[in-house]
Amino acid sequence: MANETIFKRARVDADGPLADLRVRDGAFVSVGPDAGPAEGAAEVDLAGAAVLPAFIESHIHLDKAFLEERRPNLSGTLADAIDITRELKKSVSKEDIRERSERALRLLIRHGTTRLRAQVEVDPIVGLAGMEATLELREACAGLADIQIAVFPQEGIEQQPGTEDLMREAMRMGGDVVGGVPYNDLNAERHLDIVFAMAAEFGCGVDLHLDFSDDPGDDRIESVARRTIEAGLQGRVAVGHLTSLGAMEGGKAARIIETIAGAGIAVMPLPATDLFLGGRGDAPPRFRSFTRVRELIGAGVNVAIASNNIRNAFTPSGRGDLLEIGLLLAHVAHMSGAADRPLIPPLFTHNAAKALGMEESYGIAPGCPADFVVLDSRDWNDIIIDQPEKRYIVRRGKIVLENRRESVWRD
Ligand SMILES: [Zn+2]
Repeated sequence: MANETIFKRARVDADGPLADLRVRDGAFVSVGPDAGPAEGAAEVDLAGAAVLPAFIESHIHLDKAFLEERRPNLSGTLADAIDITRELKKSVSKEDIRERSERALRLLIRHGTTRLRAQVEVDPIVGLAGMEATLELREACAGLADIQIAVFPQEGIEQQPGTEDLMREAMRMGGDVVGGVPYNDLNAERHLDIVFAMAAEFGCGVDLHLDFSDDPGDDRIESVARRTIEAGLQGRVAVGHLTSLGAMEGGKAARIIETIAGAGIAVMPLPATDLFLGGRGDAPPRFRSFTRVRELIGAGVNVAIASNNIRNAFTPSGRGDLLEIGLLLAHVAHMSGAADRPLIPPLFTHNAAKALGMEESYGIAPGCPADFVVLDSRDWNDIIIDQPEKRYIVRRGKIVLENRRESVWRD
């Protein structure tokens, strides 16, 4: 049977025995200590290598990847990131967006990500070129990755007249969720009015860039939580950044975290961006702009981490590698200790799947699509500090990419 493979001796969790993963027609049919006789199935011996389900970039801007090559952000401020990108956007074509988006997507896949939510900019400057390019890419690369699209008004809605109609058109073209950025518009509450009304119109979720500052007074999340409950969208609203939560005093932060948990809102810290753009205004001791990850997790909030950007005015670094983002988080959130490290892989696997509404067709379990990553690491608990090579990227039961990292001693 050419369509059946057994991946033998996989380390699928920290403590359990090694498992054989039997895959048929692209889906897991059994996961357990002994898959039984091969009976014609192909066999791949993983020899105890750690395995994670497909990595998920829950928040990524493919359309503005690699723009640093054209103009870097020398001040490192959010205002300059927005201004530089708006200027560059005036001269991009659909073909240009498509080329850079595919370059970024292939980099993500190379590092194990085969599911993602792309934030696609829609406004009178770029029009629907980003949507057209991303829809083309989604179709062309359907065999390699599942792409959700958040229709994203980076320039604001009211302050760029015409954006609302373009967003509606983008939703009709194939957008999955309505995006928003209330901090960059004439009036944040009216911005949220439009975003939540559009989500109701299309029967979809909401994905916001929110409270992205070092100001402890930025607590727009309370309005978002209220709106989420009123709209019955618990479990279908995500917010990226939320750095102002990190600047608040403890009592206020605790109240807000409870509100977030009660509204079922997913929080997506974006450490490579937050640490680059935030905390620029302080005299020493400097505030490192970042949300309260440990407290959010402790309160039961669904937390997912992502790259956000790859090499542009918002984030000059980035290799599309979620293990690297996980290590950055480990350091900045005091999570590199032995007891905390196992908490990190779920932030870009199962938690991200839940935030994107994919959890029912996700994971290393019978019935799920066989999408997974085989790592050159034997200790599941140390995946984040090992930073292992992603040996095999498996999509629907087929190895679509093999990576090797070799050192040759010549002493
Ligand atoms: Zn973003």
